[in-house]
Amino acid sequence: MATSSAQFTSEFSNPNLEVLISEAQIQARIKELGAEITRDYAGLNPLLIGVLKGACFFLSDLLRSIDTRLGIEFMAISSYGSSTRTSGEVRIMKDLDVPIEGRHILVVEDIVDTGLTLSYLLANLASRGAASVKLAALLDKYERRQKEVKIDYLGFKIPDEFVVGYGLDFAERYRNLPFIAVLKNPEA
Ligand code: 5GP
Repeated sequence: MATSSAQFTSEFSNPNLEVLISEAQIQARIKELGAEITRDYAGLNPLLIGVLKGACFFLSDLLRSIDTRLGIEFMAISSYGSSTRTSGEVRIMKDLDVPIEGRHILVVEDIVDTGLTLSYLLANLASRGAASVKLAALLDKYERRQKEVKIDYLGFKIPDEFVVGYGLDFAERYRNLPFIAVLKNPEA
């Protein structure tokens, strides 16, 4: 029957997902972060750097809540490890297209877990002579931190669970969910 097959293929109501942060909660928090960033960066022409692919979704909503002149750039980083855990080895797969000397940099990331990826990236950007380097992260899985990372603009603290949605994937799936969910059974 058409209805049941439509229900079966719905990713947003997939029974393997347990909603942790709703779409409304995400959007409301982003508005607050945008207002804060607008105040802090007024007149500084910041450069927002999104880390591909996961942070694109957060970046695109966040920058539309920031009411001051700004630029955007993207970097791609690969951190080796299994599909659900990082190893700490980091490599830049796509670098910036512009020099950042003297610029105010705001790195936009989806989630800080062990902190290994971000501590490498923030140090790397600071070494290029940026005027300042700060971090906006949607999620903080603080219980798993191995390297201290200062999150200047944080969306939500979350428990040590593997989450998907709003840009975060499991094997490239689930990025399109408008909410953040815990993946109950990654093998399903
Ligand atoms: P870190 O270096 O802080 O351990 O890892 C950061 C990266 O690991 C994130 O950018 C993300 O790609 C991945 N990651 C960490 N925790 C999760 C999670 O719960 N879900 C997903 N989908 N990716 C995660």
